[in-house]
Amino acid sequence: MSRPTAMLTAMAALVVGLAAPAAARPQIPGIPKSKPLTELMKRAGQLQDLVITQDEEMKLGASVSERVRERYGVVQDGAVHRYVTLVGTLLVKKSTRPNLPFRFIVLDTDGVNAFAAPGGYIHITRGALGLMSSEAELAGVLAHEISHVTEKHTISAIQKNKLIQIGAEESITKNPELWGKLVDVTSDLVMAGFGRGEELESDRDGLAMADAAGYSPGGLGEFLERLSGRNQNTSGKQGLFASHPEMKERLATLDKEIKARKYASTVVLADRYKANISYTAKPVTEIATVEAGSAGLAGSTAKPAEEPKKKGFGLSTLLKPGGSEKKSAEVTGSAASRGVDTERNAKGGPVKTMVAVKVSPAELDAFRKEGNLKS
Ligand SMILES: [Zn+2]
Repeated sequence: MSRPTAMLTAMAALVVGLAAPAAARPQIPGIPKSKPLTELMKRAGQLQDLVITQDEEMKLGASVSERVRERYGVVQDGAVHRYVTLVGTLLVKKSTRPNLPFRFIVLDTDGVNAFAAPGGYIHITRGALGLMSSEAELAGVLAHEISHVTEKHTISAIQKNKLIQIGAEESITKNPELWGKLVDVTSDLVMAGFGRGEELESDRDGLAMADAAGYSPGGLGEFLERLSGRNQNTSGKQGLFASHPEMKERLATLDKEIKARKYASTVVLADRYKANISYTAKPVTEIATVEAGSAGLAGSTAKPAEEPKKKGFGLSTLLKPGGSEKKSAEVTGSAASRGVDTERNAKGGPVKTMVAVKVSPAELDAFRKEGNLKS
């Protein structure tokens, strides 16, 4: 159910519920019950959580992306951005929001990570690109992240947990204080990762998107497996990750879904990937990290979105099965050996400017045909 529909249904239920006793009173035909209805709608408005339009969502995403870029920096390479944008745009066309103007941003950090901000801002790190070995793997990860946006997972989490509430007649964009709080909360959520249900949904949607574009849907699972193997030999809590039941469950679910849906696309494009991306992933023990205080984005005190015990399931929290940021300030030694989330706390690059990429329909079509991908 779409949000406006859900809201109207809720409002109608409220109106019906509260108006019931009034029905016993005699009514004069022709006189509309406008006043009580207005009051009821106003009351419903006061109860409602944050409602956000697509324009507001895009504006919010722009501000959150700025925070993410401020933290990690941006790779100043137009060709790399163009390649990631071409793959991402083919996937967006197969998504449920094909007309939302997505942006694909490559972050300048060795940490392996990806962040989806509302409104179509997809961030992927240089480290993640370095760990991938084919375009199908890139497509798998991008499709998963695109789905977090199309399913509005971040905004729903804010609404569900009542992290920001807005009074009746109030406009979030016209209240700078409230807007600032919204940017803080959203940035924290984007950085913290999603709950288990949202991750599984994005895995599922991502598979469908990748397959519809013509990519082998096994790409995401292959990447996740390599990521888990990369951290297998580090001590501390990350060492437990290899046998983390949630990861095993996640990979098994991916395989099951591919079989159940009979996904049969086969394009992998390892050579095209290597021709466009020449990064190599640094071993996790060699990644420079920043200290706890500066690692966070907004530093606000957002409540956990959902199922805090199950955090550590998503891509952005994949390597954080319980390691807390606090430890990096207290303990010396290599970050990985302390069980700190090295990927997330990895140092970022100095330039924060976004690299603008415009892809023409003709260019996109040529890229698709060259790769034998589906139209
Ligand atoms: Zn995710």
